[in-house]
Amino acid sequence: MQRRRGVKMELLDREHIRQVEPSLAPMFERAAFYPEHSMTVNNFRLVQRLASDFVARGGRLLQEKVRDIELGPHGPRTVVTDKDRIEIDAAVIAAGAWSRALTRRLGHRVALDTERGYHVTLPDPGVMPRLPIHIADFGFVATPLENGLRFAGTVELGGLEAPPNWGRAEILLERGRQVFPG
Ligand SMILES: Cc1cc2nc3c(=O)[nH]c(=O)nc-3n(C[C@H](O)[C@H](O)[C@H](O)COP(=O)(O)OP(=O)(O)OC[C@H]3O[C@@H](n4cnc5c(N)ncnc54)[C@H](O)[C@@H]3O)c2cc1C
Repeated sequence: MQRRRGVKMELLDREHIRQVEPSLAPMFERAAFYPEHSMTVNNFRLVQRLASDFVARGGRLLQEKVRDIELGPHGPRTVVTDKDRIEIDAAVIAAGAWSRALTRRLGHRVALDTERGYHVTLPDPGVMPRLPIHIADFGFVATPLENGLRFAGTVELGGLEAPPNWGRAEILLERGRQVFPG
C-alpha cells in the first residue's frame, strides 16, 4: 500500500541489515528501509527555534496556565490565565492531551484521550545507530539524537493524573541492551 502511494521502501535481508546498520545485534531476518524518512536530532531545540521565530515576527510569548476561556456573543472573548485576563478575538487550542477541557469550555466535545509513552535517553551509549530504527518485534524506536541515544515506546492508557510507571522505562533499557549489544 505504501509503495502504491509513492513511499520509497527497500526490503533488506540479514546481510543488508548488517551493512546498513552494523550496530544492531545479528538477530533480524528482515527490515524495511525508508530512504526518504526524516527526523529531528533535537526536538527541544526545534521547539525553542520555533518559539524565537514566532517572537521575532512580532508574536508575544506568555508562560501562563490557561484556566478558562470566556465566551462573548460572537465566540471566545477572554482568556483567563493564572496571572492575567487577555482579550482575544480568536483562539487556537494546542494543549496536547490537555486540550479536551478547554475545547469543551467552547462547546466542542472532542473525542480525545491520552496514549502515554516512555523513553530512556542514554547520553553516553557506547554505540550509536546511524538512523532511527523501529524494532517492531520489541515495540520500541531507537533514535540517534544530539544528546544521546533514545529508546522510546510502550503504550499506556493511563490518563493525565497517574504517576509514571518507571518499570516501563526499565523494560526499554533491557530491550535496548538486547538489540544493541555494544
Ligand atoms: C514517549 C513518547 C515518544 C514520542 N516519540 C515521538 C517521535 O519519535 N516522533 C513523533 O513525531 N512523535 C512522537 N511522540 C508524539 C509527540 O510527542 C506528540 O504527538 C506531540 O508532542 C504533540 O504535540 P502537541 O503540541 O499537540 O502537544 P504537546 O507536546 O503535549 O504540547 C501541549 C502543551 O500545552 C501545554 N498546556 C496544557 N494545558 C495547558 C493550559 N491549560 N495552559 C497552558 N498550557 C497548557 C502543555 O504544558 C504542553 O507544553 C512521542 C510521544 C511520547 C509520549
